[in-house]
Amino acid sequence: MHSLLGWFAGNARDLPWRRTRDPYAIWVSEIMLQQTQVKTVLPYWERWMRELPDIAALAGASTQKLHKLWEGLGYYTRVRNLHKAAQMVIQKHGGSFPDDYAQVLELPGIGPYTAGAICSIAFNQPKPILDGNVVRVLTRIFGIGGNVRNGVTRARLWRVAEELVLCAAGHASGNRRHASDFNQALMELGALVCTPRQPRCAACPVSKHCVALWEDRAHELPSLGPRVRSTPRRFVAFVAEHRNRFLVRQRPAGVVNAHLWEFPNVEVGTEDSDKGRAVRRVGASRFRVLAAPDRLKAGLQTELPGSALRRAARSALGLTPKGLQPLCAVKHSITRYRITLDVFRVAGQFAGQSASAKGKWLTRRELHRLTFCSAHKRILGRLGIH
Ligand code: SF4
Repeated sequence: MHSLLGWFAGNARDLPWRRTRDPYAIWVSEIMLQQTQVKTVLPYWERWMRELPDIAALAGASTQKLHKLWEGLGYYTRVRNLHKAAQMVIQKHGGSFPDDYAQVLELPGIGPYTAGAICSIAFNQPKPILDGNVVRVLTRIFGIGGNVRNGVTRARLWRVAEELVLCAAGHASGNRRHASDFNQALMELGALVCTPRQPRCAACPVSKHCVALWEDRAHELPSLGPRVRSTPRRFVAFVAEHRNRFLVRQRPAGVVNAHLWEFPNVEVGTEDSDKGRAVRRVGASRFRVLAAPDRLKAGLQTELPGSALRRAARSALGLTPKGLQPLCAVKHSITRYRITLDVFRVAGQFAGQSASAKGKWLTRRELHRLTFCSAHKRILGRLGIH
């Protein structure tokens, strides 16, 4: 414990949210850091704290502003929950972030990990934390070999994390904030030394106590059980331009990336996923491989014949395209899905039929103000709209 705390005191990264004990600032950093790397989060956190310096500012902000501040971080449920939670803090707690663990846990978007992080880091309470870094460090130090996705192993890890932070708090002396420092030290050790592939055991402050090192098992811990296979999905998107306006639409409530903007698109199948779904979605009778050189040049993978592609365009746009020009391919992942989005520019004169389009015709300046899903933001970039 002392060697870990000593190591943390001399090696902790100087991160802006570590220079404050403001629970609001720490809460925002913890939510942003979920599934996102520190170097990505830094500019977002700094801009957020400039624009929304306290809970009242967050509670009163418009959804559009919040989405714009979050644009590029993904997993937008996080920002919607931040907003709801801030409003709850205003209504139920008079605008002061609660320091009671159970009350923190009641806030939308806050689970046991985030509640433990806020209560320990901001209020120095001996509450445990268990994120990916801590799981890796604890399974290795204690040689815990069970599948960490399994409830029994998980419960054991929570117990170990709790015993350790209680013990750290019990060793506190003077003004030292041992519960806060200890939890952050565990996370920092996982981020800087006890890394997933090549842990730097020679530089590790707890190597003397590490079962995985003694038994040469670091490479096999933590045990994650059988790998979950990712599923490929394929979409085609269409960029229609008419009188310097582009056709875009807003995603409905209750779906992934709800309320964000996108270019009209439709899902088509993949050879190895679901041909049937593709056929149904675009109304084609059967797909076949069509390897047009210009499609390949743009990196597109769509194998739809031209007629099926035009039907897909009509269904997504509500317009009849005269021609389709390959623009680019965008690859990205959401949860367990590997998504390929093939993008086409739509040629045609839409005068007279633009009213029937599925979406809104907006200028470049208007598009610039909206929040787009990250894949469609890359299309904007391709069109020179940043
Ligand atoms: Fe991780 Fe190696 Fe330290 Fe053990 S000795 S905690 S495996 S870095």
